[in-house]
Amino acid sequence: MSENAKVAYFSMEMALDPSMHTYSGGLGVLAGDTLRSAADLGVPMVGVTLIHQKGYFCQHLDENGNQTETDDSWKPEDFLRPETAPAAVTIEGRTVHVRAWRYDIRGISGHVVPVYLLNTDLPENSPWDRTLTDHLYGGDEHYRICQEVVLGIGGVHILNALGHSELQGFHMNEGHSSFLALALLEMQLKGADLSAATEQDIEAVRARCIFTTHTPVPAGHDQFSRELFTHVLGEHLGSTLDATHCCPQGALNMTFLALRFSRYVNGVAMRHGEISHDMFPAYPIHAITNGVHALTWTSPPFRELYDRHIPEWRYDNQYFRYVFGIPLEEILQAHVRARKTLFEEIKAATGEQLDEKVMTLGFARRAATYKRTNFLFSNPERLKTIAGSVGPLQIVFGGKAHPRDEGGKDLIRRIFEARQALQGHRIRIVYVANYDWRWGQLLTSGTDLWLNTPHRPYEASGTSGMKAALNGVPSFSIPDGWWLEGHLEGATGWDIGRSESSSEDHASEEASLYDKLEFIILPMFYKRPEEYAQVMRSTIAVNASFFNTQRMLSQYLRNAYESIKVDISAADAEEKAGK
Ligand SMILES: *Cc1c(COP(=O)(O)O)cnc(C)c1O
Repeated sequence: MSENAKVAYFSMEMALDPSMHTYSGGLGVLAGDTLRSAADLGVPMVGVTLIHQKGYFCQHLDENGNQTETDDSWKPEDFLRPETAPAAVTIEGRTVHVRAWRYDIRGISGHVVPVYLLNTDLPENSPWDRTLTDHLYGGDEHYRICQEVVLGIGGVHILNALGHSELQGFHMNEGHSSFLALALLEMQLKGADLSAATEQDIEAVRARCIFTTHTPVPAGHDQFSRELFTHVLGEHLGSTLDATHCCPQGALNMTFLALRFSRYVNGVAMRHGEISHDMFPAYPIHAITNGVHALTWTSPPFRELYDRHIPEWRYDNQYFRYVFGIPLEEILQAHVRARKTLFEEIKAATGEQLDEKVMTLGFARRAATYKRTNFLFSNPERLKTIAGSVGPLQIVFGGKAHPRDEGGKDLIRRIFEARQALQGHRIRIVYVANYDWRWGQLLTSGTDLWLNTPHRPYEASGTSGMKAALNGVPSFSIPDGWWLEGHLEGATGWDIGRSESSSEDHASEEASLYDKLEFIILPMFYKRPEEYAQVMRSTIAVNASFFNTQRMLSQYLRNAYESIKVDISAADAEEKAGK
């Protein structure tokens, strides 16, 4: 059955199981959620990623918020089956052997989406080549480009070796895998010299490729100098790349490579599609807004609640629209249980006992400067006054900074400073170390309000607020990314700053942040809890029913995979016939 997969989905990171450390954040979670929905819907897909057996990293924080990192190793043999099919890539003229481990994602009605995790830690490789699939986003640019050769080119070779002859689409989840286009071009030319490729050959590759771009932050687009890519790929392939217009100013831009070779390109929210088009005006760029896998991100108390009232939600996420029929009291009870679990876990991890009667804000995401983690503390005096006069606050933070991102590390230290400065002013701050899948689940379900304060327009989509919505937690966010689409004032949460202006205005955002906390959100939470519960319920109805990967994948099928003729009913029938 898996041999008939029609779409191969490539991603440098993929969150497949909480105990497999093969992801760092939103990109990997999205990849995993996409394939989990493919398995549920019976879409014939197959995933390709690297094994990352030493993980991203394990985060340690000292009492001042200084981050240190250690390896985050895990045991592939506990989760995966080794495949024997051999494949290889050429790096710096050497043959680097690649094998795959297989992970099966089983959907709700039994359909399996296999994921191949590529591994170069093989005795036949040199000691350095053996490390190439160890660390997600580790090492330097040289390490990174070699990993991308393994992912893109090695991935296509492995799929061939495993007999995936029916693949019609190759979906690049971000530009890390765009070397796959070179492997497809080589196949198209049947061994002839790549420099002999005609426009028709390139068109044949384009007809099979789909590219999703994920960030308007320039550093998020990999670039490799001419010297580096010709050193790694060889002079000949290097000059072929040069001829493909993927090397503006002489540097290879992986995003340009993906754009040049893709038939369909999209951003991950409507605004992000427009911004990406402004960044790459020569290409038509569409938009399909991200989602989250509902079952994965719904907390146990809410799963039980939905099972009782709208059992269809597991198969068909549109049924979330009908939570309006669930009594507010039951929504609150489920939330109280989710909050209790979170507070127990926080107590176990940090020793801090949070207060169940105090409003709890959640903020957890990668500690990157554009995320502006410390925006809530722009005016600490005002925050103290609000907490003193309207009601106390608890704020739970989480998030890792990339080991080489000093700006991100500094953000974490500043949260620890704010914690000190605000102590004794009815504001309690907790920072949980090592934010991951498990903490993501706990925080997005156990807090009362989900905060997001990025610099505009850098939040391509954001997905943690969607997880919060599934659990009845409204958002309080800067109008950017998905929130431009998910925001309904007073119904799904609250906006920070005016949404009419597209550029940032710090002063008006700051005023809006504190005014809404003081005059709208905190008074409602403390004085009119029933009204707050209504916001929680409409958050689920309006946003959980839309911002899920079931809807998202249906849009990819209709808009991006459309000419690939993925026939879900055929896959379903095959499943039922027990093939
Ligand atoms: C969902 C998730 C993210 C992505 O959250 P954003 O809101 O997109 O920043 C990152 N890390 C983990 C562990 C997650 O679960």
